[in-house]
Amino acid sequence: MERNRDDFAQKVKTEIAKRAGYMCSWPGCGKLTEGPSSKPTGAVSIGVASHICAASPGGPRYDPGQTPGERASADNGMWLCQDHAHLIDAPASAHSADQMRQWKRQHEVRVRMDLAGQRPKEVVEVAGEHIATGKGNVTGLDIQGPAIIKPGTRSVAEGEGNITATRIGYPRRKAEQ
Ligand SMILES: [Zn+2]
Repeated sequence: MERNRDDFAQKVKTEIAKRAGYMCSWPGCGKLTEGPSSKPTGAVSIGVASHICAASPGGPRYDPGQTPGERASADNGMWLCQDHAHLIDAPASAHSADQMRQWKRQHEVRVRMDLAGQRPKEVVEVAGEHIATGKGNVTGLDIQGPAIIKPGTRSVAEGEGNITATRIGYPRRKAEQ
């Protein structure tokens, strides 16, 4: 192994992994990195404790202002799947340390919410034409929960009765019904 590398100790790697819920911290990835092997015992790992600022001079985002202790601390680590660990340290990588820290914070917020049983609902994307015609309860676009409505989305409802072009709401909890 090279000298002058401030690598993470095993217990620091474990701390980085646990803080990420053993999931990749890359935005939109969230891949689980630990799981059972195909045998009755044993586990496989595809997780990597990546350095936000490199462990040695010349590495990606190396910060000469860090002490060796800071460089090897969990605060300087980000848990990623192997694909994204590769991508973040690729020579052409344009991702800054600040960007990585922001991603890490966002991921930790999600993991903390999940841990507290407040998993954020999946955000659905809505696009295209939603046309409804008829009698009675006519609803063009009915969205339950958080949604991104893409530009150009059309919602039309025509007919007799209770006409709603677009309804955006959250499912009621049982106690409220
Ligand atoms: Zn990933």
